[in-house]
Amino acid sequence: MTASGPCADTVKEVSTTPTKTRGPNKTKPWRMPAGQAMATIVLSLDSSDAHARRRLETLYFTIFNIRRALQRDAQRLCREYWERKSDRDEFGWKVVAGDLGLTRRGFEQLARGHALAAGWAMDHVSAALVYHMADAVFEDAARHLWSDASGKRHGPLKITKFHEFFTIFGRARSHTTDNKWESFRVYGALQGHLGAYGHGSLGTHPTLAQVMDLPAGTPLLHQKHMTTPAATKWSTYTGPLVMVFAGGPNSDAGELQLPVRLPQGRGQWERVTHFLSNPETWHKIDLVRRPDCSQPGGWRYEMHLLVLSEGWTSPKNKALLGLASTTRVACVDVNVSNLSVVSVGLDPRDLRSTVVAKDSQERDRLRRVEAKKKRGQRRCDRSRRAMNEAQYKLSRSQIKRDQKREAKGLRPVVTEVRGGARLEGRDGKPTQSYRRDTLSVSYKTQRRSLAEQARGQSTTKKIKAHDIALQLVAINGTNWIIEDCNISGWARLWGKSLHAFAPGMVTSELGAITTRLGGSFTKVSTAATALSSHCLCGNAKKKSLGDRVHNCGVCGLHGTRDLVSAALGTCVVVGDTKLPSTAHVDYTRAGAVLTALDSLHQGYQDALTSQTHPLGSWVSATKSQGARSVGIHRTARQNAKVSASSTKGPGQPGPAKVTHGPALARSSPRGQLRLNS
Ligand SMILES: [Zn+2]
Repeated sequence: MTASGPCADTVKEVSTTPTKTRGPNKTKPWRMPAGQAMATIVLSLDSSDAHARRRLETLYFTIFNIRRALQRDAQRLCREYWERKSDRDEFGWKVVAGDLGLTRRGFEQLARGHALAAGWAMDHVSAALVYHMADAVFEDAARHLWSDASGKRHGPLKITKFHEFFTIFGRARSHTTDNKWESFRVYGALQGHLGAYGHGSLGTHPTLAQVMDLPAGTPLLHQKHMTTPAATKWSTYTGPLVMVFAGGPNSDAGELQLPVRLPQGRGQWERVTHFLSNPETWHKIDLVRRPDCSQPGGWRYEMHLLVLSEGWTSPKNKALLGLASTTRVACVDVNVSNLSVVSVGLDPRDLRSTVVAKDSQERDRLRRVEAKKKRGQRRCDRSRRAMNEAQYKLSRSQIKRDQKREAKGLRPVVTEVRGGARLEGRDGKPTQSYRRDTLSVSYKTQRRSLAEQARGQSTTKKIKAHDIALQLVAINGTNWIIEDCNISGWARLWGKSLHAFAPGMVTSELGAITTRLGGSFTKVSTAATALSSHCLCGNAKKKSLGDRVHNCGVCGLHGTRDLVSAALGTCVVVGDTKLPSTAHVDYTRAGAVLTALDSLHQGYQDALTSQTHPLGSWVSATKSQGARSVGIHRTARQNAKVSASSTKGPGQPGPAKVTHGPALARSSPRGQLRLNS
């Protein structure tokens, strides 16, 4: 390193001629107002037109290629950054990053270079899309290089695979010039949509107001065949909703127009009008694709419209949240199979508790889901074995059967799927790698549908988690305390049951809802409080994981371990809300809660449990959303098998019938808390 300046030997030569720019902004640039509420609505796009679909595919192909080139650059730059440790120590990370071009602007220039060098790319994509893609890649790189607010860094950058590349980020519209959109734009009006696609039963010219008076369940739209308005003056256009993309600057293909598909029934219409009735609030559109084998081309395209307004809350949920107390303190004890909540009002005698656990119906449903998944996986496996017969051995029973047949002088069985292990070399690796296998079309369809089912289930789980969190807040108030535990670490131990119950989803929803309502969601360190090994009276007794019952030899409190520790959690005081380790239990307050329990029930008999509040029915959330059911046809033989196993008596999984009902319910076993005397 020379003394002439930082990193002088590695700084690239800078041209001295000034670059041509448009100069500074003449007007004050638009800024997002502080604390502006934002929400996103996801709307399907109609890609049934083959020409439009081809253009969408080309758009994705182009952006993907530029993105891949940029990701490779980013990997190289990150490696160089790590190698220059002495420079970072001497001049600081910022100087080294700036020198390497590890900046937002540096990435944008790199991406632009790739797009221009391709020669054909600017026929299909606009510069704005390229820049936004570059920003996203830069953010990924920055997450790897520098830690976030929680002090964590991400792993090294990976190259996204084409079939895992879903989102193209659009540019926000101008809020200073009317009707000025770049990249993806949306035009039209709800009334126009209703006029063009209104259901036959609504009459000729249904108005929005008339539609809102109809009962839920009424079909409103009929969007089987959707049309585009061709060349139109968009500033005066009020027809059905359509998303428009102008194409690349060198394109001569005209605008890409994609009709927007709205929810067809009356049930979702309040939500639709909330987001779409005021075009002034529309801010930005991202184009997203999802694998969907029911769609032509195998992809479903969506428009994610970001709107500058509050998200939609149904009147029912609004009423629920309106009831939420702001003075109660609640604590949730998170467990692999249940959530135990206890909350205390200003008066310690005002105790409430809620236990969320899977009930028998939900367990039944999960078992059916699991069985369905297994059937699909087995079908995939059989298909792979059948197509790549040479890679598999015969199973033990097949070998035995062949020997028997040979002994009897019968001819060997020829056509069958080999059931044994995969052929492998001495190193334990398969002789032929799995990616070199021949895969049938039905295998690929089946694999896709399995992935779609999994995505659908995850959406269902998210909706359920939101619903549970909402009800928990309504019952137990907006101020929450939770033990700071690493739920993802539990997955190694209890993967399957944890995955089915997903307590982390509920608690993160709790955090989001309470923050939105102006409450608090405080994490406290388990090491500092040791809630599960203390009694409300202050007596410490270590419990093993198997001890599910709390039994205090000093004060005589007896109860479910989780409820007792949640009750103790409501008495936690935190020094600094951002530092979980500053928490400690206020045992004076805990003593007051203990006295309250005693006075309420003349002894601790059933005290916490009798306060248990039921979670309301949430049938609506049990409906799977997000994925379409994809045909897995059961053969007559399989049907026979299922009904046969269902008659085998208790302990066998039941036949795959669908029942509707509340999937989770409170559990209130009797005698959880009682006085030992
Ligand atoms: Zn005690």
